[in-house]
Amino acid sequence: MQIKRLRLTGFKSFVDPADLAIAPGLTGVVGPNGCGKSNLLEALRWAMGENSAKSLRGAGMDDVIFAGTATRPSRDFAEVSILAEAAGDDEEIEVVRRIERGTGSAYRINGRDVRARDVGLLFADAATGAHSPALVSQGRIGAVIAAKPADRRTMLEEAAGISGLHVRRKDAEQRLRATEANLARLGEVIADQD
Ligand code: ATP
Repeated sequence: MQIKRLRLTGFKSFVDPADLAIAPGLTGVVGPNGCGKSNLLEALRWAMGENSAKSLRGAGMDDVIFAGTATRPSRDFAEVSILAEAAGDDEEIEVVRRIERGTGSAYRINGRDVRARDVGLLFADAATGAHSPALVSQGRIGAVIAAKPADRRTMLEEAAGISGLHVRRKDAEQRLRATEANLARLGEVIADQD
């Protein structure tokens, strides 16, 4: 998956709408301390479904909304949009996550309301996502080198695009167990009628 554009409004320090074109290949973000480099990467991860406030350097999810400065009032919502193109496919996909203060967040894919889980699966199938090793934040290089084998395996599974299979396997196992329970119940009903 090629991410082509990132749009932010009211996300952390990006109070005014910002529109970033992302060219193919490796992208680095440079700038003085505190200018918002990490916030950009966090916006990407947040729009991909990151739900750990701690990993977004906040105490709660509303902390991603512009909190105001001495000269500008706070905002009541934040919105991040990712425009991407699937590998070998000309079709563009736009994923939008929006949060309103006090009411939580909602997702859209190509203008249609979807669940967080749909967004998670979309990115997992495309071998990327909020925890993708393709998004390298500060301190991550050291973490990769020091990773335990089980954690390294997770990184490899994400890179191979098979991490979405774990979610689907769990779903399939739950459906199988429910069907087995139904069959057992049916067996009892049939036995009662004999
Ligand atoms: P460094 O190079 O020091 O790591 P950086 O360029 O990665 O810095 P960030 O950490 O992305 O910078 O941005 C930090 C700035 O974002 C701080 O000025 C902080 O006050 C601001 N910030 C973070 N959350 C919010 C928020 N909710 N509302 C307003 N500003 C915020």
